[in-house]
Amino acid sequence: MSSFKVFIVGGGPVGALAGLYAAQRGFEVEIYEMRDEYNQPHTATAFSTKSISLTLSERGIKSLRHSKCQNLAERILSKTVPVYGQKVHGRTKSGLTTRRIPYDVHGQALYAISRSEINYSLLQELSKFPNVRVFYKHKLSGLDMKQKSATFQNISRPREPDHEAKFDLLIGADGAHSTTRFYLSRYAKINISQKWEDIFGVNSPSPRDIPFLWTVCICGPNMISCCLPAQIRKEHLPVICLPPKASSWSSLRSTSPDITPDLIPTDSLQKQFKSNLHHPMIDIRCSPYHYQDSCVLIGDAAHAMVPFYGQGMNTGFEDVRILFEDFLDQRRTLPSTPYDLSLTHSVQQKEPLDTPAAIIGDYLEQYTKFRQPDVHIINELALQNYKELRQGVLKVSYRVRKQIEEFLCFYAPQLGWATQYRMVAFETMRYTEVLRRVRKQGLILSSVAWSCLVVLSIDFLFSLRLSKVADVLV
Ligand SMILES: Cc1cc2nc3c(=O)[nH]c(=O)nc-3n(C[C@H](O)[C@H](O)[C@H](O)COP(=O)(O)OP(=O)(O)OC[C@H]3O[C@@H](n4cnc5c(N)ncnc54)[C@H](O)[C@@H]3O)c2cc1C
Repeated sequence: MSSFKVFIVGGGPVGALAGLYAAQRGFEVEIYEMRDEYNQPHTATAFSTKSISLTLSERGIKSLRHSKCQNLAERILSKTVPVYGQKVHGRTKSGLTTRRIPYDVHGQALYAISRSEINYSLLQELSKFPNVRVFYKHKLSGLDMKQKSATFQNISRPREPDHEAKFDLLIGADGAHSTTRFYLSRYAKINISQKWEDIFGVNSPSPRDIPFLWTVCICGPNMISCCLPAQIRKEHLPVICLPPKASSWSSLRSTSPDITPDLIPTDSLQKQFKSNLHHPMIDIRCSPYHYQDSCVLIGDAAHAMVPFYGQGMNTGFEDVRILFEDFLDQRRTLPSTPYDLSLTHSVQQKEPLDTPAAIIGDYLEQYTKFRQPDVHIINELALQNYKELRQGVLKVSYRVRKQIEEFLCFYAPQLGWATQYRMVAFETMRYTEVLRRVRKQGLILSSVAWSCLVVLSIDFLFSLRLSKVADVLV
C-alpha cells in the first residue's frame, strides 16, 4: 500500500466514486462523511434530505466503468429503471393534453435510480478495499492547506476534542454548501458565484401517500413527467411542474396549484405544495478548484447546477474520471513518481520524486484550467434547459429544429449531426465541444433557412414580373 494519504471530505455519490479511484491506485484513503452510516439502501437515514431519484447517463456510466471495479457499472445499472422520454401534460381550452417527447431518436434511455441506492452501492464497494477507511458522523471543522492538516468534529461525541489528521491530498466532495470550498477561499484567489434560482423542489414525505418522489415547481400550463414503466410509476414518478412564464415562486405561494387532476389529484398536489419542505435550486460556479498540491474540489462542491439536464451527478462522476485518468495518472509518463503504485498492475514502482508537491500542484492547476470552461457551460445549459422545458417545448421553432436535427441524426449519421440533448446525455464529448457543435449546427440551419427564404422570394418576385410582362404582351 502507498503511504500517499488522500482524504475525501463527503461520502456522497461523487466522494464515494473518488474514493474508489484513489483506492484502485493504491493510495491510503480516508473518507469523512458528516452523516450517519446506513445499512440498507432504502432506509437511507443518512441521506434522507435528498431522497430523490437521479438519472445516470453516458458520462456517469463511463466513469463508473473506468473505476475498474469489477462489474460495478453493470451492478448499479441492474438496479435502475430506463427512462426513454418525457411527457408534457398541458391544459388547453378543450381540456387536458399529453405529448410524449422521446429523449433520443435512436431510442437511448437515461437510467433512473434513487440517490440512496447508488450511494449505498458505491460505499459498499469501498468497504472491499483494505486501504480505505470511512469515518461517518465526522464533519470537517478546520483545514490548514499549507500544513496539510484537517480537523473533523465527531458529531456523535461532541464533547471530545476534534480529530486532527495529516493528508497529502484532500479532495473536497462535500456538496453545494461545501465547507472545503469555504476554507479554499481563505488560501486561493477563488472567484465564487452563487445564484439562487426562483425554482423550488418539493419533496414528498412518503411515496405511499403521494405517488411520486419529488416534484419541482407546482402550477402552470405545462407539467413534465418521465415515461417510466407503470409498476414503477406508482411509487416513483418524477414530475416537474413548471410555472408559467410570468409567474414567480413567491406569486405561486399565495395561489393553489391545480393541474392535470387525472394524474395527480388536486387535493394531494395542494397538500404537498403547502406542507412539504421547499428546497430552493441553486447555481454555484467557482474557479480555481484547487490550492497548490493540497486540495481540489469536485462534484457539487465545485459546481452545483439546477437539475433540469440531469447532469449534476454525471458531471461530478466525470470530474473524478478526468481528474484521475487525465491528470493525476500523467505521473506515469514522468521519469519517477511520488507514490507507490504497487496496486496498479500496469505500472512498475519507481523511485520517489524530489519535488512531488510541485508536480501534483501542476496537475491540479492543469485540471482546473481544463475542466472549468466545460463545467461552466453545463451549468449554463442546465439553466437554459429549464427555460426550454418551461416555454420552448411548445415553441414551433424549437420543435422544427429538433425534428430536422433528429431526422439528420437518424438518416445521415455520417454527418455527425445530433441534438444538443443527445450530445450532453448520450455522448461524452467535452461540454465546450457540445456548445461549439450546437452553435455550428444552428448557424448552418439558419443559413439554409435564410437561403431558402431568399430563393423563394426571388422566385416569387420573378414569377410576378413574368406575369406582368405576359399581361403587357397580351
Ligand atoms: C431534485 C434534484 C434532481 C436531480 N436529478 C439529477 C439527475 O437526474 N442526474 C444527475 O446526474 N444529477 C441530478 N441531480 C444533482 C445531484 O443530486 C448532485 O449533483 C449530486 O448529488 C452531487 O453529488 P456530490 O457527492 O457532489 O454532493 P452531495 O450529494 O451533496 O454529497 C455531499 C456529501 O458531503 C457531506 N458533507 C457535507 N458537508 C460536509 C462536511 N463539512 N464534512 C463532512 N461531510 C460533509 C454530505 O453529508 C453529503 O453526503 C439532482 C439534484 C436535485 C436537487
